[in-house]
Amino acid sequence: MNRPVNVTVLGSTGTIGFNTLDVIARHPQRYQVFALTAQSRFESLLEQCRRFRPRYAVLLDDDAAQRLETALRQDGLDTEVLCGPQALEQVASADEVDTVMAAIVGAAGLGPSLAAARAGKRVLLANKETLVMSGSLFMETVRRHKATLLPIDSEHNAIFQCMPQGRAQGLGDLGITKIWLTASGGPFRRLSHEQLAHVTPEQALNHPNWVMGPKITIDSATLMNKGLEVIEAHWLFGAQADQIEVVIHPQSVIHSMVQYSDGSVLAELGNPDMRTPIAHALAWPERIESGVAPLDIFAAARLDFERPDTTRFPCLRLAFEALTLGKTAPAVLNAANEVAVRAFLDHAIAFPDIPRLIEAIMTAIPLQPVTRIEDVISADLLARQMAEEWVTRHKKC
Ligand code: NAD
Ligand code: MG
Repeated sequence: MNRPVNVTVLGSTGTIGFNTLDVIARHPQRYQVFALTAQSRFESLLEQCRRFRPRYAVLLDDDAAQRLETALRQDGLDTEVLCGPQALEQVASADEVDTVMAAIVGAAGLGPSLAAARAGKRVLLANKETLVMSGSLFMETVRRHKATLLPIDSEHNAIFQCMPQGRAQGLGDLGITKIWLTASGGPFRRLSHEQLAHVTPEQALNHPNWVMGPKITIDSATLMNKGLEVIEAHWLFGAQADQIEVVIHPQSVIHSMVQYSDGSVLAELGNPDMRTPIAHALAWPERIESGVAPLDIFAAARLDFERPDTTRFPCLRLAFEALTLGKTAPAVLNAANEVAVRAFLDHAIAFPDIPRLIEAIMTAIPLQPVTRIEDVISADLLARQMAEEWVTRHKKC
């Protein structure tokens, strides 16, 4: 038998990281963990090191790294502890690594995702912000360094599965006329403008179908998650804005669809559990068991579809606008959104302030062309700074 596949899991203590390790643990002959990384939760990382015995464990936080080191030595484990953003790039690109799960949340994932692509790895991309911020540069890096890019986002993974084997680009050549991105609609799908003004972070964190980290859960409630996914689909599949349609499908049984010129619409169905796309991408083009319960189609019974309402949920409109504007607009949208989500979670701004803030920042910052990663990073920093100032000016008393 071949040697096990060496996997680095970036963001291993998050929801996607946790689910990735769950799938890996089911196939100990097939996968070996090379490195695990987290921001500061050293206890979770320690637990994972005990179980998976990686060569490296990376923490962003110095103090947490010290504590992990001490605990590992007490346990007699020889996992080496590294610290800082440079170390994330190191374990994403090391020669021994075959596959990198890019599951850090937010803009912090950009550097390590790019490092993995530059090293020609098989990149399992959960961090959609990488594509939103720097889609053209990232896709170019993947091509130039012959990396293999597999989408983890359930919608994009579904679309990939509904396309001819391994051919993710050039919709026209494949006879594809449209991509249908499904959205659950989030917990506030039925609320009026008036009700939306008073929703709390606690209510927003209560997603009806998916268990996810806090940032993406808020993004799902505002529909910004779907907006980011529209931009992600543009880059992954070479789809233009008018070839991507969002449909609210509250049951989350269909994970997305691909429409062909002959009238066929192919869909991928299953229980809403991220272990399916994770197992698919880990094993592709083979199939492995994921631990996900089989879909009970009789229990699912109904599949409903609605048009999204962009007046109550303007984030979706803003994302389409950013995609059409191009250049640094998606990076500005993403950065402003990250600040807005943090401020909402901190009870500093109200739910409808999230799109207000993003629109204000998008309007205020002139577009710049993107030719180097520095262009993206400076747009990101400027947008964050202006967004923070917006929050200070509009803080709830
Ligand atoms: P999460 O908040 O549960 O976990 C985030 C992980 O990133 C943690 O391990 C955390 O320690 C690490 N991290 C956070 N900030 C960091 C920083 N500055 N530097 C280094 N590491 C940092 O998030 P999640 O729900 O697992 O989502 C991860 C990514 O996957 C996001 O980009 C999200 O959009 C995407 N995604 C998630 C889901 C889902 O179901 N959870 C589905 C599709 C896509
Ligand atoms: Mg998704």
